[in-house]
Amino acid sequence: MAISKDVLKVQPSATLAMSSRTNALIAKGIDIINLTVGQPDFATPKSIQDAAIAAIQSGKASFYTPAAGLPALRQAVCDRIAIEDQVQYDPSQVIITTGAKFGLFLLFQVILNEADDVLLPEPFWVSYAEQVHLAGGNAIAVKTTGKDQKVTVADLEAARTPKTQAIVLNSPQNPSGLLYEADELRAIGEWAVAHNILIVADDIYSNLVYNGNQFTSIVSLSDAIRQQTLLVTGVSKTYAMTGWRIGFVLGDAAIIKEMSKVASHATGNPTAASQYAAIAALNGDQSEAKAMRAAFEDRLNTIYPKIQALPGFEINTKPQGAFYLFPNVKAAVVATGYANTEDFVTALLDEAHVAVVAGTAFGQPDHIRISYATSKEALLTACDRLADFMASHQ
Ligand code: PLP
Repeated sequence: MAISKDVLKVQPSATLAMSSRTNALIAKGIDIINLTVGQPDFATPKSIQDAAIAAIQSGKASFYTPAAGLPALRQAVCDRIAIEDQVQYDPSQVIITTGAKFGLFLLFQVILNEADDVLLPEPFWVSYAEQVHLAGGNAIAVKTTGKDQKVTVADLEAARTPKTQAIVLNSPQNPSGLLYEADELRAIGEWAVAHNILIVADDIYSNLVYNGNQFTSIVSLSDAIRQQTLLVTGVSKTYAMTGWRIGFVLGDAAIIKEMSKVASHATGNPTAASQYAAIAALNGDQSEAKAMRAAFEDRLNTIYPKIQALPGFEINTKPQGAFYLFPNVKAAVVATGYANTEDFVTALLDEAHVAVVAGTAFGQPDHIRISYATSKEALLTACDRLADFMASHQ
């Protein structure tokens, strides 16, 4: 069977694979606590659901929309970014995409030529590298040596080549939950401007920041940095709308136009009903989004000390955002006698009935990713199970 060489090189998403393995065990009736998930466990707020239902019932969701999205949604994105990041964009600088994931996919298709390099500071979200490969580029994992293992200009300079076309920055970060501070972002932004390297700023978790920490978007730091940046975000995480598949990319109007051209031949447009729902999410009352953020903060504060106290689990800095912990478990793997993190994770699933993802998929094989996007009760039980597992395997 003829299958493209480029596609054969792509790895399936490790997080989705672990999640489906977990769901298969749950379907068999096994009481697994699933901490692999990358999505809020809340239902989409009712006012947003109602907007979609009204759009369907009035008939206006029955039709194709422009490839770049409904004008009212592009405007709503500009208005929300102006409120949250104090940065003005024009709707011509916005494309609505089928999730931020497809926005990133389109972006790499548009900005990369064969064998261009894209720098990915470790740890990085699983899909970036594969999307870069699918666009013909090279994904370059960058070792990070800064505060809390964040990337520094020196780290980036060590990885830069004449083929470096872009860097992907994700703050708050999946899988570590770390947040880049304004000074760190400014240094990276100025470096990118100086070397004419595009910044892909994945701000998808920008509204999930906890315990008084402040989110800064790199686009808010200077006009030069903003002009060098493609800002990727969406409604999935903030409004519990992962299933609706609506993301946005904001930046240079010429790049956005090319992305719209590619989208017009791919998806055509993101689902109309979802776009109407997203308008309601962005323009409407933000109190439910705030309540969900507060629930995540409470869960982080509950689970963090318990995970930190597990023997052989090391987290140096309390995460400030997203909904993941990313402990280094090398000592736990050694103490329990497993050959590697994958085997350790499999044993956690089979014996402790707790599902997590091995860090290999994020470029850091000594770590595991624990999602706390589930109830506090389930999280507390999972912590007890992990503690029992560690106690019985020493
Ligand atoms: N970026 C990061 C870092 C993510 O974790 C995710 C989802 O897991 C996405 C982008 C994509 O979000 P969506 O496609 O649901 O908008």
